Amino acid sequence: MPELPEVETLCRQLHQKAAGAKILRATVYDEKLTGQESIRGCVIQDVRRCGKTIHLILNDGRSVLIHLRMTGRLFWRDKATKEPHTRWRMTTDCGNVDLIDPRRFATVKIEKTRGEKDDKDILLNFSMKPFLEKQAKRKVSVKILLMDPQAVSGIGNIYASEILYGARISPFRQAATISNSEWVRIFRHAKRILKKGVENRGTSISDWRDLFGCSGENQKQLKVYGQEGKTCRTCGSIIERVRQSGRSTYYCPLCQT
Ligand SMILES: [Zn+2]
Repeated sequence: MPELPEVETLCRQLHQKAAGAKILRATVYDEKLTGQESIRGCVIQDVRRCGKTIHLILNDGRSVLIHLRMTGRLFWRDKATKEPHTRWRMTTDCGNVDLIDPRRFATVKIEKTRGEKDDKDILLNFSMKPFLEKQAKRKVSVKILLMDPQAVSGIGNIYASEILYGARISPFRQAATISNSEWVRIFRHAKRILKKGVENRGTSISDWRDLFGCSGENQKQLKVYGQEGKTCRTCGSIIERVRQSGRSTYYCPLCQT
């Protein structure tokens, strides 16, 4: 599932290819997606990310909002060859953007452009105060809280494990037991790790590919995720994996307390 760095990578690449492009047509190949034809003739003015949603800002006051969900991928195609599981294609005067999604959970919506800022996004306008006042007091584990889009935007299973290892905080601690200075530490590492993820064009553990079909490089940076049975680079303990709310959590039992 793409997380913040993967979506940011797509936004940057889309900006580079499609900003200023004119939309010639949008073609829907899946009946679950409708109402796209009205964007014909619009110009893409900007490409922005909001959490894990890609916003193509149009010149008529509307935006195309794309959310990839589980298995959605966006690809830039100079030629009009159509691959299996293509659900949507936007043809511009610069090239095609294809949405490919075997499980069909990805969404495309046309909405009025909203100007509000996302105060839950660590790489945009994250605001610590409302987080500490409300979210940090919840009775859930810190890892589950970091992955909750109501609390923090864009963090999924891979980056949550890496962030908590970086901050040396146990993923099983209740959020309410974490001190303000520990939260500051968690978000400092979150910022560093997510930025690194963007620089590396995402983490290709399974099938993540960027807009041009290339793998990311960030998997080489992972310290705990997928490292079960390997030694911790800090203390030499064995990295463990446990199931936590149905997902795998990777951690160092000695470093993270
Ligand atoms: Zn360790």
